[in-house]
Amino acid sequence: MTKLPPNARPQTVAVHGGESPDPVTRASSPNLVMASTYVADPDTRFSVEGTSEDSPYVYTRWSNPTVDQMERKLALLEGGECSVAFASGMAAISALFLHVLRPGDHVVMSDVCYAAASEITNHLIPDLGIEVTKVNMTDLEAVREAISPKTKLIYAETPVNPILRLTDLKSVADIAREAGALFAVDSTFASPIATRPLELGVDVVIHSLTKYIGGHGDAMGGALVGGREFLSKLRQQTAARVGGIISPFNAWLIMRGMATLPIRMEAHQRTALEVAKFLESHPKVERVVYPGLASHPQHDLAQRQMDNFSGMMAFRVADGPATARALGKHLNVIHYAVSLGHHRSLVFYIPTADMLESTLRLTEGQERAYRDYAGDGVFRLSVGIEDPQDLCADLDQALAQAP
Ligand SMILES: *Cc1c(COP(=O)(O)O)cnc(C)c1O
Repeated sequence: MTKLPPNARPQTVAVHGGESPDPVTRASSPNLVMASTYVADPDTRFSVEGTSEDSPYVYTRWSNPTVDQMERKLALLEGGECSVAFASGMAAISALFLHVLRPGDHVVMSDVCYAAASEITNHLIPDLGIEVTKVNMTDLEAVREAISPKTKLIYAETPVNPILRLTDLKSVADIAREAGALFAVDSTFASPIATRPLELGVDVVIHSLTKYIGGHGDAMGGALVGGREFLSKLRQQTAARVGGIISPFNAWLIMRGMATLPIRMEAHQRTALEVAKFLESHPKVERVVYPGLASHPQHDLAQRQMDNFSGMMAFRVADGPATARALGKHLNVIHYAVSLGHHRSLVFYIPTADMLESTLRLTEGQERAYRDYAGDGVFRLSVGIEDPQDLCADLDQALAQAP
């Protein structure tokens, strides 16, 4: 593996971290190994149990040399001891739930989070005999009150999808530690360039690699990052058995994307700030929520917890559905599409009714807190790395067609 200086900065880690030249050809770029199996020593055990990071490769569902390099690069960027990659962000989240929780256990879950994460805690997880309590993670008293002796996991997101509300990671980590619960955080919107949750006391960081880390909208992947002891057990007992592992080709693409993560995040932030200011001054826009704007209700926390405000924002207009139709029809540069964190700008309308349907069981207060940001719906805008003036002009001409 390429040796890095002990205090190598993120851009150097992003380029060289975790990679090794091909041992046979000395090719400088990481080797793409598309093998599913490896010629084994006849003494090799026929089980993933008891294997370690130094064990020879046996089967790609257990480990793969290309995936290993990508996992090491990500762990170095995130400041974790190791990482385990999956076929998607949701495969990573599901594996975490299945690994940590048993019937009778309890989870405290952010009441606003990525829809599919919310949806598995509506039926699938409770049907396994696991109790779920959803709380507004900005209300630390509510987090404390939700905890019971059965609480095994606290699950948060920051910034949250799609309203960009922040979770104070250090404060919730203190509560989790006191409760003896594992604290997992989905840091997809932030990326390791903006926030390193492990340094703030978080136990496990979740990423959808499909988003900023891969960065180019061409490969799906997910990962967990954290401590070696916890994650090597998770790899052997859950990830390698439940499956849902990443294709080496996707790992290779994502690793290539990661080399430019720090410079892309700088461009995302710079471009997003210009677009956010443009939207905030636009007569048809009622509200913009972007952590980098002074108008964000938690701008102070954003400044403390984020080294980069990322490229994600939400904005609201008077007539969301009609504006969505106008944007879908008239935007030229920005794609009207789901997903986020790509070099291409993407926008999508998320009606509050749809969001509440995927969240379920919110209290009146929680629903009010959501509507305070989202009204009847928000546009989630993922600002890419195009020229900011071109993006503002594109939004301007398309908004001109809206009511
Ligand atoms: C996209 C996303 C996920 C799910 O990741 P996939 O790779 O689509 O499975 C989870 N959390 C957040 C915050 C996301 O944006």
